[in-house]
Amino acid sequence: MAASVRAGYFGPFGGRFVAETLVPALEELEAAARDVMTTSPFQERFHALLRDYVGRPTPLGHAERLRAAIDSSGERLGALLLKREDLCHTGAHKINNALGQVLLAKEMGKTRIIAETGAGQHGVATATACAVLGLPCEVYMGELDVARQAPNVSRMKLLGARVIPVSSGSRTLKDAMNEAMRDWVTNVAHTYYCVGSAAGPHPYPSLVRDLQSVIGNEAKQQSMRALGRLPDAVVACVGGGSNAIGAFAPFIDDASVALFGVEAAGEGVATGKHAATITAGRIGVLHGSKSYLLCDDDGQIIEPHSISAGLDYPGVGPQHAELARSGRATYVSATDDEALAAVREVASLEGIIIALETAHAFAALRGVVDRLVKAGRKRSAVVVCVSGRGDKDLATLIDRLGLGGVS
Ligand SMILES: *Cc1c(COP(=O)(O)O)cnc(C)c1O
Repeated sequence: MAASVRAGYFGPFGGRFVAETLVPALEELEAAARDVMTTSPFQERFHALLRDYVGRPTPLGHAERLRAAIDSSGERLGALLLKREDLCHTGAHKINNALGQVLLAKEMGKTRIIAETGAGQHGVATATACAVLGLPCEVYMGELDVARQAPNVSRMKLLGARVIPVSSGSRTLKDAMNEAMRDWVTNVAHTYYCVGSAAGPHPYPSLVRDLQSVIGNEAKQQSMRALGRLPDAVVACVGGGSNAIGAFAPFIDDASVALFGVEAAGEGVATGKHAATITAGRIGVLHGSKSYLLCDDDGQIIEPHSISAGLDYPGVGPQHAELARSGRATYVSATDDEALAAVREVASLEGIIIALETAHAFAALRGVVDRLVKAGRKRSAVVVCVSGRGDKDLATLIDRLGLGGVS
C-alpha cells in the first residue's frame, strides 16, 4: 500500500529518474497540474476547446455487422460499441493531450513549446495546439523518421512549427526524446516540454492520463445511456499507453469492467521483431521512469518493430506496468498481419478505415470475447477505443493489402 501511494509511483513503477537540473521544472509542472489544471477556469477553457475545436464528445456507436461477424448468435458477444476518437480534429486522440498541455503551458507563463515525435502524429497534434493557442513550436524528430514520415513533416511546417532533425543514435524516437530533454534542461525557464504519451518522468504519466480521461469519462456516460449499464470490457491498443489509460482510468474502480490493452507483436513476439513491451519486456528505466522496456542483456534498448508507427516505442507508461502486475488489466498482443486483416474487416463491415495502431485492438477482439466467456460472462458488451483513422496509413495498406489498380 505504501508504495502505491508514493507520489509519482504506480506500485514499483514510475518515479522521476532525471538529471538534477530538471527536478525543479518537474516540480513546477507538478504544482501546476495540481493547482491550475484542477481549477474550474482551466477545466472550462479546456472543455470549450474540446467541444468547439476538437469536436467532442466523440460518438459511442454500435458496430452491429462486426459484432455479428464475431458472434452470429449474440450469446457470446451481445454488444460491440466503438468510441470514435478517429473523429477528433486531426484524426486521433493525441489532440486531447496536446491541447491540454499547451493550454497549461500558457497558464504557467511559458512562451515556447518543444515536443518529440516518432511517426509525426504527436508532432502534428502539438503543432496544431500551438497554432490555435498562439505559441511557437519546435519538434525534435529522428532523421530516419523525417525521411520516413515526410507528409507529417510537411504538415508540421504548414502549421508553423519548426522540425529539428536528430542525427544521433539510431535517429528515431528515443533519440528525439533525448534531444528534447537536453533542450528542456537548457531552456527550462521559458520552455514547456509537451510529452506525447502517458510515459516519462512524474508528473507526465498522471498528467497525460488525466487529460486523456475524457475518452473514458464520455464512454462511461454513453455506455449507461446505450446499454443501461457499464460495459463488460474496454479494449484499447497500447503504444506508450495514452489512449488506453484515458479509456481505462474512469473504469479502474469498477471491478466488473475488464480492461484489455493490446500491444504490437510485429512479426511475432518469438521473432524479436515486435513492440510488445509488457508481454515480452523487462523492468528498467527509460525516459525518466521505471517501467517495462525492450532491452538486451546489457540493458541496451532494442529497436522495436511494428507496422504501426504509433506503437513502435520500446517503453510503456508506468501505470500500465502496474495494471499488468496487479492483474487489474490484461495485456495481449497482435501481429502486423493480424492488424492488417483487422483494418480490412472493419472497413468492409463498418465503413470505417481505422489506423493501423487501432487495428491491433480489433485484431484482439475474438480473443477478448473468448476470455470473457471463459470467465463466465455471456452476451458481453465490449467497448473498443478507435484511437485514430487510417488515412495516414494508406500507402502501407496499398502495399500490404494489394490495393493498387483495378482488375
Ligand atoms: C500514437 C497513436 C497510438 C499510440 O499511442 P498511445 O499513447 O499508446 O495511445 C495509438 N493510436 C493512434 C491512432 C495513434 O496515433
